[in-house]
Amino acid sequence: MDNFKFYVPTDIRFGKDRLADELPEALNVYGKNVLLVYGGGSIKKNGLYNQVIDLLGKNQNIVVELSGVEPNPRIETVRRGVSLCREHQVDVILAVGGGSTIDCAKVVAAGFYSEEDPWAIILGRKGYQGEALPIVTILTLAATGSEMNAGAVISNLATNQKLGVGGPSMIPKVSFLDPANTFTVPTYQTAAGSADILSHLFESYFNVTPGTDVQDFVSEGLMRAVIKNCPIALKSPDNYDARANLMWASSLALNGLTRNGKHGVWSCHAMEHELSAFYDITHGIGLAILTPRWMEYVLSEQTVTKFAQFAHNVWGIKEEEPIIAAKKGIQATYDFFKTCGIPMTLPEVGIDDERFAEMAKQAVAHSTIKADAYVPLAEADVEAIYRECLTESNFV
Ligand code: NAP
Ligand code: FE
Repeated sequence: MDNFKFYVPTDIRFGKDRLADELPEALNVYGKNVLLVYGGGSIKKNGLYNQVIDLLGKNQNIVVELSGVEPNPRIETVRRGVSLCREHQVDVILAVGGGSTIDCAKVVAAGFYSEEDPWAIILGRKGYQGEALPIVTILTLAATGSEMNAGAVISNLATNQKLGVGGPSMIPKVSFLDPANTFTVPTYQTAAGSADILSHLFESYFNVTPGTDVQDFVSEGLMRAVIKNCPIALKSPDNYDARANLMWASSLALNGLTRNGKHGVWSCHAMEHELSAFYDITHGIGLAILTPRWMEYVLSEQTVTKFAQFAHNVWGIKEEEPIIAAKKGIQATYDFFKTCGIPMTLPEVGIDDERFAEMAKQAVAHSTIKADAYVPLAEADVEAIYRECLTESNFV
């Protein structure tokens, strides 16, 4: 296990009906001028917007709105947010939504203090060390973990780039996690969000660092919680406990708990960000399509033990022969996504092979997967994995 620092100071307020008593107090620590950030209108349909506006009114906040944050949030929206913060002397940002809204809020918060264009912060990549406005979040979709981490991913469709950035000042100060706020998440997004949570766990679980049983066994437990609860939430969208388990898994899967103490760069996220950058598809769907193909591609004598462990401990597969167990685990992963209703080929989400070479090149250029991945991936490998996603697969 590697050395690590684990400091995630987000104050989590998990559970029902906490906003009325606790949101004003959480915001007042920072000031009265609030930038309210939200997406395309789901919070207006489900009543959360009215509830928040009402509370802010009673708390005598001055509210400026940045609305219409896109799924795969765009740099233009970030720029709009930075201008609003400067124009209205915003003290605190309140992000109400999923990962896209929270990610956008994070880069707005950092952009406020930067003399450069916000895209320069993104190009600086992972290590943003500057200041940021304080962020409070109300999470409405279990997926990214952005509610309890330092990361943000922003798209620049003009240049076909979707890049991540992060820094300690961008970690939300307070996050309200009320599972009831996710009852209205449609089935497609519920499945996509669950695939994203699983992918965050897989990306660190399949790793070269030896001696990380704590991280790995915690990951296996979180994976099982998602695999158990996602189908329940799909069938009964207002099942509180199913939503609660997905929501808490979302935060724990990417707050460092299962990743710290390990080194190595993520493979499927690097490949998926290119699909989103070129075709603007839903992040979790792209991950679900890629993941089983990536697993099969990297399965070898060196990796089979870990894949067999995954099959045994996560999917309960009894098969003892490691290679057969490993393949059954990969098949189970694929079948799970399929039964969740996820389209499991790229053509089903509007992607053909036309730009595979270009995307593979970028995936390698924008990350260090060629050197530091679980199994290093060169352009030809990425292209081969994309190609496997053109048709349905069978792994056993
Ligand atoms: P999202 O893009 O924030 O939201 C997806 C869709 O779900 C939107 O159309 C949104 O509608 C809708 N939605 C959200 N909450 C809803 C609710 N309660 N009821 C009904 N509809 C609801 O999805 P996400 O998966 O959370 O975020 C994806 C982004 O995060 C991607 O850009 C991805 O790359 C990034 N990401 C970030 C991290 C990180 O650590 N920061 C990690 C992984 C991925 P409205 O817009 O109308 O609200
Ligand atoms: Fe993700």
